[in-house]
Amino acid sequence: MRAPVNKMIPLSVVDGPGCRTAVFVQGCNIACAYCHNPETQRLCSGCGLCIGQCPSSALSLSGKSVLWNEAVCIQCDHCIRICPHHSSPKVRWLEASEVWAQIEKNMPFIQGITVSGGECSLYPEFLTELFTLAGKAGLSCFLDSNGCVDFSVFPGLMAVTDNVMLDVKAWDFQVFHRLTGGDNSDVKKNLKYLAQMGKLYEVRLVCLDEETAPGTGPSERREVDMEEVIAGVADEVRPYLEKFRLKLIAFRNFGVRGRLETRKSPPPEQMERLKELAVTCGFKNIQIV
Ligand code: SF4
Ligand code: SF4
Repeated sequence: MRAPVNKMIPLSVVDGPGCRTAVFVQGCNIACAYCHNPETQRLCSGCGLCIGQCPSSALSLSGKSVLWNEAVCIQCDHCIRICPHHSSPKVRWLEASEVWAQIEKNMPFIQGITVSGGECSLYPEFLTELFTLAGKAGLSCFLDSNGCVDFSVFPGLMAVTDNVMLDVKAWDFQVFHRLTGGDNSDVKKNLKYLAQMGKLYEVRLVCLDEETAPGTGPSERREVDMEEVIAGVADEVRPYLEKFRLKLIAFRNFGVRGRLETRKSPPPEQMERLKELAVTCGFKNIQIV
């Protein structure tokens, strides 16, 4: 089974425990206003706009598909910057076995693999095949997901998935929808399902500065509802709070496009206050990054 692969990082120490190979698939089912990899959100439409702009003539059109000649690409990323569709022409559709062949080369140095995106859960058959190969080789298999696809309908994938790092971006439906364009009912469902399965490694929350994203007020006006996420997650999976980490991520505008691209980061004291709230709510393992 094939999936569109945006990039692979052979050795990563920031995509789960230990040293791991990270695979980033192309395509997402939501569009977060604070996404710092917006070029991974959509599949290339084949509009052809980037082709004549490439300084190395690395791009060409074949029917409705863009062909990327990696051998002559100078990785300037000009094509990504000018793409109006939040896409990239530098995406390869690869079989799970082809991805595994790349990962296998890193075997002496890695403890596991993590598939991120885009949104990895859009390609469950690919993931099942890849994780089966990696699991047989003794590697741990992690997903990094926005949780907007119901994991419980993929028992085969869950059987070969060791852990999931789950983004919980907002708690109130309206706030979530305004931030992402999506629906968070499956995120909440997955939160409970994964915790009960013992496969929730980490819950992630991106925190915006409160000065311009107030934590109180009508939900339709708020950019994020950080306090509600912290309290909501704690209430939803209280018996499992010792089993997973809460990662509070300070927003950074690097790579962000659109209404949040000039937004400043939250000050350290705000992050500490959110951590204190998390402690009060019963979280045992909290990390600020
Ligand atoms: S990468 Fe973007 S600009 Fe280039 S052909 Fe695809 S959709 Fe068009
Ligand atoms: S990054 Fe894009 S624009 Fe730059 S050389 Fe490679 S294909 Fe061409």
